[in-house]
Amino acid sequence: MSHKQDAFYASVLRNFDKAASMTEYPQGLLDQIKACNAVYQMQFPIKIGDSYEVIEAYRVQHSHHRLPTKGGIRFSHLVNQEEVMALASLMTFKCAIVDVPFGGAKGGVKVSPRKYNAEQLEKITRRYTVELVRKNFIGPGIDVPAPDYGTGPREMAWILDTYQQLNNGELDSAACVTGKPVAQNGIAGRTEATGRGVYYGLRELVNHKPAMKKLGLEPGFAGKTMVIQGLGNVGSYTGLISQEEGDAKIIAISEIEGTIVDQKGLNITDLIAYRKENGSILGFPGSKTLENRDDWVGLECDILVPAALESQIHKDNAGSVNAKIIAEAANGPVTADAEEILNKKGCLVLADMYLNAGGVTVSYFEWLKNLSHIRFGRMQKRFDQNTKLNLVNKVMEMTGKTMSDTEKSILTKGADEIDLVRSGLEETMVSSFNQIYDIFDGSDKVTDFRSAAFICALNKVASDYMTLGVFP
Ligand code: NAD
Repeated sequence: MSHKQDAFYASVLRNFDKAASMTEYPQGLLDQIKACNAVYQMQFPIKIGDSYEVIEAYRVQHSHHRLPTKGGIRFSHLVNQEEVMALASLMTFKCAIVDVPFGGAKGGVKVSPRKYNAEQLEKITRRYTVELVRKNFIGPGIDVPAPDYGTGPREMAWILDTYQQLNNGELDSAACVTGKPVAQNGIAGRTEATGRGVYYGLRELVNHKPAMKKLGLEPGFAGKTMVIQGLGNVGSYTGLISQEEGDAKIIAISEIEGTIVDQKGLNITDLIAYRKENGSILGFPGSKTLENRDDWVGLECDILVPAALESQIHKDNAGSVNAKIIAEAANGPVTADAEEILNKKGCLVLADMYLNAGGVTVSYFEWLKNLSHIRFGRMQKRFDQNTKLNLVNKVMEMTGKTMSDTEKSILTKGADEIDLVRSGLEETMVSSFNQIYDIFDGSDKVTDFRSAAFICALNKVASDYMTLGVFP
């Protein structure tokens, strides 16, 4: 295990302690909230070609104060127990911040997905699911996985199918995992959800006049320069939506193969298509490649977006950061040491447990959809549409004025599932931002945004424990 990975869980605990010291909660309660409730480490054999490989995997349930527990599954050769414990802990606080009624959990399988073909990955995913079922670590009311680094809707479909084979006839079985393909009990808007949530969170910050004044930036998203590390699920949607809806200028992208820069702005739609065709972002027309991939950290910009892995901004490179806002789209990309340096430099770190909570928020909507066995909007869409149409027709009749069919259809549109999901996500990100900012701004004791986010979460989790009667 490298020093950097080792530091991830320690960083989460240090950040927790820092925020906890700003509250009045009894130490015993804080200790209970901080601890990981259950850690399941497993090893299972997989036949690859003519030989067998023993795969190491984990599922950690950090907090059972609300059930089910919830959190993604990561496929990476760097997976280790402490990393999964750190990620599971963050999930508890994330769910509390966005008022999603789950405890935190996370899964990890120590494999590099690039090393295996689809058939082999399917075997690994199905066997991992069987292990979870055998130990009662998965189920709609127990523990509900989702995608994370290295996994996506395809893996979630394999998990669902395996679970259903082993739980024949269970009415709510589709709710055992979220992030599924839309055609297989998924929900519209889940794939983009984390990136879209990052955009909404950033938009709240850059439109917040007092916050921008403190940072010495002009309010507004348009024209803000961004640098993004990672063009996977979270990074690509953050880039696409910030560009299309926020009119931001993405001046650099860092991927595993290198970092490209174009001060005029990179078109993210074209870049994604280019990478799909060429297997690399390097050589993208109009861009130049940095000599050292990891120098993206020091590029001058308004918003730096680490969207790949943890511990990317650490004590050795934090001093070179040349941005006012660090948007933690990934989990734990800024170490606790680095954050101290960044805070002294006057940077604002928009913390992961708030900023990337869009994924779990829409996963919650998917879980609700699965439990209710009906698509959002199915009952009311036409009713709303007809009511609005009657109103528009009446206004036209009373005023003697008319409007075009296009104008009419815009005014009378009933909400589809995607409209409701985006609206629910936007409402969540806006209201959670305000809850955290009120704590950040409201007390001299609270010195940074991450501590404010932690306190926001702690208030809710502590209240749950006290209501449960576990603590007086
Ligand atoms: P992903 O696998 O889709 O994409 C990650 C990308 O990062 C890949 O394209 C990979 O090549 C790139 N990458 C890896 N190491 C890199 C490096 N050193 N330099 C540059 N690029 C590098 O994963 P994802 O789902 O987008 O997750 C990214 C981060 O966001 C993780 O920290 C994850 O825990 C977090 N997250 C994901 C979700 C979700 O819904 N998928 C939700 C919340 C948080």
